[in-house]
Amino acid sequence: MCAISGSPEDAELNPGDQAAPGTPGTGENLCPDCGGDGWLAGEACANCGGTGKVITGIGGA
Ligand SMILES: [Zn+2]
Repeated sequence: MCAISGSPEDAELNPGDQAAPGTPGTGENLCPDCGGDGWLAGEACANCGGTGKVITGIGGA
């Protein structure tokens, strides 16, 4: 792991993410698995990595 300083969410993708944060045409949405909670059954949601948000395409056809 490089220790280059950057944003806390720098290029960290979770299984539910369709693209890296900041990718044009994508945006944050509530995680469909945990509903934005970040937790499922007492454990950090694996789909969003416990953030409760996932990056998905927006405005698509
Ligand atoms: Zn989740």
